[in-house]
Amino acid sequence: MRVLLVFILSLGFLAAAAPAHPRLFLPPDAVAPLKQRNAADPLAKQLDACAISQADACLTERKVRYEIADGKRLLPESRRAVRCVLLCAYAWRMTGEARYFERCVGELDAACAFKDWHPSHFLDVAEMATAVAIGYDWLYPKLSPDQRQRYEAALITNGLAAVADRKDNWWQGATNNWSQVCSGGMMLAADAVCDVDPDLAKSTLAHCRHLTHSCERFYQPEGAYPEGPAYWHFGTTYHVLAMALMERDEPLKLDPIWKMTGNFLLHATGPSGMPFNYADANPGQAECSPAQTWLAARTGDPLAITAVRALLTRRYGGSAKHPPNDRFLPLTLLWLPAAAPAAATALHASFQGEQSLAFFRSDWSANALWLGIKGGTPAASHGHMDCGSFVLDWAGSRWFHDLGSDDYNLPAYFGNKRFSYFRLQNLSHNTLVIGGKLQTPKAKPCPLTPIQTAGSIASTTIDLTDAYRGQCGQASRKVEFNSQPPQLTLTDHVLAPVGALRWQAIVDAKVTLAGAVATLEKDGHRLILTCASPTWYGKSPPPPRRAQRKSPILTNKSFPSKRHPPRT
Ligand SMILES: [Zn+2]
Repeated sequence: MRVLLVFILSLGFLAAAAPAHPRLFLPPDAVAPLKQRNAADPLAKQLDACAISQADACLTERKVRYEIADGKRLLPESRRAVRCVLLCAYAWRMTGEARYFERCVGELDAACAFKDWHPSHFLDVAEMATAVAIGYDWLYPKLSPDQRQRYEAALITNGLAAVADRKDNWWQGATNNWSQVCSGGMMLAADAVCDVDPDLAKSTLAHCRHLTHSCERFYQPEGAYPEGPAYWHFGTTYHVLAMALMERDEPLKLDPIWKMTGNFLLHATGPSGMPFNYADANPGQAECSPAQTWLAARTGDPLAITAVRALLTRRYGGSAKHPPNDRFLPLTLLWLPAAAPAAATALHASFQGEQSLAFFRSDWSANALWLGIKGGTPAASHGHMDCGSFVLDWAGSRWFHDLGSDDYNLPAYFGNKRFSYFRLQNLSHNTLVIGGKLQTPKAKPCPLTPIQTAGSIASTTIDLTDAYRGQCGQASRKVEFNSQPPQLTLTDHVLAPVGALRWQAIVDAKVTLAGAVATLEKDGHRLILTCASPTWYGKSPPPPRRAQRKSPILTNKSFPSKRHPPRT
């Protein structure tokens, strides 16, 4: 009887123990299938070649330093460590070449000799812990006992213990991307050392699992992310790392919101290859991240699979001039889904939420007319005064722009001076200005109506009233998007505006004003912008001329109750 009891307890212990190292995302028995997949799938082969080439470049780069160049963040160094460790550890596991192992050890030695990982800005700790946890885990079989002990001590002292030491860990509530990044990074650190300090690891894992689940609310109710596309990749990547870790040990029921947010990202990227860079996202080509490949593979959504493979082909394929230097490339490649059969995709989509958004396109070609427009609120994390603002692509380029973020180190950029900076004001966005004033900083989220279609015309209306609180009785912007022929009509209704009403837009085209028509020219293409009410405001406008019928036409109608001429 006693023997039987011991036997049962032993079974229980084995079932609860973490698997042997390496156990983070790439266990030993997954290496050979990964090599086979990389050889068989042309896109995986290109990504693998790029990862090895970037690992080669790391061999001669400097090691990570305790350097806080902007006086506030170690983060660039933490990210340097993630990149070097992931690339070199991946290259070593794929090729077995000692030079990659040695370079990775050099990076781990440097990071673990730091006095701390800069816990006053905890993202720095989270990303450095990610680098050291994955490096320690992937290299574990060949590390010496001394190396293992040093890396374990750093993960515990600079990582897990630093959480408890801080009183300013506001991110431990589900607040914004910090909560996802910090909880994800701490989970990797805890899993790496759970055999060494099981109590600390267990309590960290339990807390961070709960926090990660709580962060799912960011994507509710329809998949839009409040902090813009750049933070979608950052926050969602760490959220996905946490989910992939949880799923290793127990089945994970995936909430339908994850498929919806993949759909959101698909629609939020224009045919120029640039996303709608609302919030503090900078203009540029769409990023690629392991969040996309993991979610596409995990949901099996053929639209997401096709989209991410097309994106990776464009960014990393043979014709790509400058492949991204992304620190997570090995994980993006690891979770790359196999090609899926093509599936029909809707042309238009809208997403409710704290930052409500709608997207319209004339077709799915690279030359399509595409519009991204938003309601929402400046009060969202990383929010701008961009209620009613839009970006627009045509003929493969972006014509109407969002300028993106400003310098995070400007005084009170995240505090009470935030909206004193031009790039964050409605004065720099493609929306209305009433009486020269700013939008309401803490406006209630401006909602938009679900998209309605009538023939080839799709429409939505954004209620902007709260964004202009005290500046008018009511404000709304209606979108009517005609797919064929491509034409967009924006109609602004403003009731009793207090002061002059200005319709404005940021463009990088040559603009010619002719009465009620503005002609925008760029790269041999032309957009015709017609003001239906009352006329363009300009200096001595030349006589009107006929619009070019082969170009898409944007029509703007402003209907203030008092007559104030709109200005461009
Ligand atoms: Zn903006």
